[in-house]
Amino acid sequence: MSAGVRLVILGKQGAGKGTQCVQLSRHYVVPHISTGDMFRAAMKSGTQMGLLARTFVDDGQLVPDEVVIGIIAERLSDKDARGRGFILDGFPRTVHQAQALSELLLPGRLDIVIDLAVDTALVLERLASRRVCSSCGHNYSVQKPPKFNWNCDHCGGEVVQRPDDKSEAIQTRLDLYESQTSPLIEHYCNEGLLETMDGAKPMDEVFTDIVNAIDARQAARSRS
Ligand code: ADP
Ligand code: ZN
Repeated sequence: MSAGVRLVILGKQGAGKGTQCVQLSRHYVVPHISTGDMFRAAMKSGTQMGLLARTFVDDGQLVPDEVVIGIIAERLSDKDARGRGFILDGFPRTVHQAQALSELLLPGRLDIVIDLAVDTALVLERLASRRVCSSCGHNYSVQKPPKFNWNCDHCGGEVVQRPDDKSEAIQTRLDLYESQTSPLIEHYCNEGLLETMDGAKPMDEVFTDIVNAIDARQAARSRS
C-alpha cells in the first residue's frame, strides 16, 4: 500500500474535482472529505446543520466560515484522517478557512495543494449538462445519462439536476470562486505547496498527472 497523503484540491465548479477525488481516495487509501457532500447529506437527513446549510447552498452562497470550519475540525479529528491523511474537496474556500486549516493541522501540515485549472467556458458547459443521483451522488450528464429512464445505474435513485446547477446559481458560485477562492492559489503558491494541473485533459490523464505530482513531492521529502 502506498503512503497516505494530506491533500487539498482546488478548482472551479465543474473542474472535475469530485471525479478525481474518488480515484485518489482509493489510490492513497485516505478519506475523501467533501464539504459539499457533507452539507447535501445533512440537508437530506434534515439535521439542524442541514436546515441551516440549505439557506445558503441552494442559492449557491457560501456557508459561513465558522460552520464549515467546525465540521471540518470534527472530521479531521477522526482516526483515519489523523493517521494516513485525507483529500479535502471544497475546503478551504476562503483565505480565512485556509488559515484555520493550517492551525488545525499543527504540528503537521499539508503535503500538497493541487489546482485543477479549467476555462470558465468549459465548466459552464459541463455544469449545464451535469446530472446527479439524488441518492448516492453518482455523476451523469445529458450526454451520458443512466441506462434506464433517469434512474441511477448503481442504486436506482432518481437522477436530477442539482438546484445549484441552474444557471443563476452557477453564476453566483463562479463569481464567489473568483472573489473568495482564487486568492488561495497565491496563498498556497507562497507556501510552496501549489501544483497546477490542466483539468481540460481526459480524466485518466489528469489522474496520472496528479499522482505523479504527489509522488514526486513525497519522494523529494523522504530524501531530505
Ligand atoms: P461546487 O460545485 O459549487 O464547488 P460543492 O458540492 O463543493 O459544490 O459545494 C456545494 C455548496 O456547499 C457550495 O456552493 C456552498 O454553499 C457549500 N459549501 C461547500 N464547501 C464550502 C466551504 N468550504 N465554505 C462555504 N460553503 C461551502
Ligand atoms: Zn445512485
